[in-house]
Amino acid sequence: MTPCKNTKYLFITGGVVSALGKGVASAAIGVLLKARGLKVTMLKLDPYINIDPGTMSPYQHGEVFVTNDGAETDLDLGHYERFIEVDMSRKNNATTGQIYYTVITKERHGDYLGNTVQVIPHITDEIKSRILDVARDNGVYDVVITEVGGTVGDIESLPFLETIRQFRLEAGVENCINIHLTLVPYIGAAGELKTKPTQHSVMKLREIGIQPDILLCRVDGHLSLDLRKKIGLFCNVPAECVIEARDVSSIYEIPLIFEEQGLGAILEQRLQLQRGEPGARRVDLDAWRQLVDKIKGPRHTVNIAMCGKYVGLKDSYKSIVEAFVHAGVANDAHVELHWIDTEKVEQSGIPESFNSMHGMVVCPGFGSRGVEGKIKMIQACRERKMPFLGICLGLQCAVIEFARHVCGLPGANSTEFDEQTPTPVIDRMETQVNIKQMGGTMRLGAYRCEVKPGSRAQQAYQTGTVLERHRHRWEVNNRYLPQLIEHGLQVSGVNPETKLVEIMELADHPWFVGVQFHPELRSRALHPHPLFRDFVAAALQFAGK
Ligand code: GLN
Repeated sequence: MTPCKNTKYLFITGGVVSALGKGVASAAIGVLLKARGLKVTMLKLDPYINIDPGTMSPYQHGEVFVTNDGAETDLDLGHYERFIEVDMSRKNNATTGQIYYTVITKERHGDYLGNTVQVIPHITDEIKSRILDVARDNGVYDVVITEVGGTVGDIESLPFLETIRQFRLEAGVENCINIHLTLVPYIGAAGELKTKPTQHSVMKLREIGIQPDILLCRVDGHLSLDLRKKIGLFCNVPAECVIEARDVSSIYEIPLIFEEQGLGAILEQRLQLQRGEPGARRVDLDAWRQLVDKIKGPRHTVNIAMCGKYVGLKDSYKSIVEAFVHAGVANDAHVELHWIDTEKVEQSGIPESFNSMHGMVVCPGFGSRGVEGKIKMIQACRERKMPFLGICLGLQCAVIEFARHVCGLPGANSTEFDEQTPTPVIDRMETQVNIKQMGGTMRLGAYRCEVKPGSRAQQAYQTGTVLERHRHRWEVNNRYLPQLIEHGLQVSGVNPETKLVEIMELADHPWFVGVQFHPELRSRALHPHPLFRDFVAAALQFAGK
């Protein structure tokens, strides 16, 4: 293994329980380093055997984050992009499934020259090469942050942890740092914060040869100096490297609370980081401070109805939820999201609460469950002239609704929901019809879209061509376009190569936009997506603010 010269490697593991927010903590550390003018990239190692999360249910995995190059990846990559503003690619997420697949393919090819293929060194070498590959991607990075999914103690993450142990030896102790995120629970009966789970988790790490350099302790409240000293003593870490990761009202505050406690300075010192330009003179977190101030003190509130299927599990729509935080800041507004289960709408009609909404989104989705409810909601939204944003399935439902109720095509449907529909206004393209394999076969990744001058979309984007990310099989059927257009549907974005509809709007409506792609995947904390921004602005106007 030849590590990149000068590149530093941060490894982040998690202990005690899952769902401590390791992805956000990793991304926040990325922000601290970026604020020092360093070039930072990130990698997520996932212990499961699926090749990618593309085939997993949203209930099991949450959102699938799609990269420009069409990889279906872990939702933590969304946090990375939103925080450090670096476009991720398929290189930035590796699963056990991918690692074994590569090794087994090489074995079948005879690449191991008669050797017995083993976890050590073949699997661990493959993991190392994935880490190094990320460091080299797009020129050499100053820092690679690698987040190991799962919890220390899980059988399935062992090869990743063993790799980290070896990596530190080979890349040099001065070039690597191990950060462990744990939980310090409050036990009500004792009225105390308890450090034992952290001690045990670090013990487990040390058993396999990894000594954490820094501990990030999730805690409800404040971690006193005494407790930090105690944790430090038992875990062999200086007290100043025991960082309080307290609960905060906005995840965008996390870089600031880490910086406040000196985490950035500790990393600089331990990794002997030379500050790059332009942050060389000072640590530039001004924009983050302004962002957090705006999130905490918005002038307005606006109510948005969110029509989806997985309303019980907001992680399924992670990027959309975050895009609204960003768009809210741009409009000095708190965007209150009200989730509407459209299956219920099918049984009991449009909910009473719809009357107090100022805008409506129809979320992406798969399968026919809840679709008729969505169509009902879209009709109400269109007729009330309430701002509308339809994303992927949301656009498809909007086209069906328009075809049925405005163009006089009552049988209009998508072949996804009714294969025999006489009026397939949404249909699969030739390239999708004969696909038998499920994984990685949708229209995936960034495609160009030409935006029509004078449209709402163009007002938002302020440019003629945009690149947006896709994840779907069905498309607007161009055969029905003349009829749709004749009745007032505007095609305001088209793929220049395939002529497929990428954006539609309604002429006779203040702000009604459907997009075949996923704009939420390109919204960043400091750079809101223009369509979300303008949609929120339209909703504020609808609310009379
Ligand atoms: N089910 C639709 C399709 O595959 C929409 C997908 C989505 O919303 N991401 O085309």
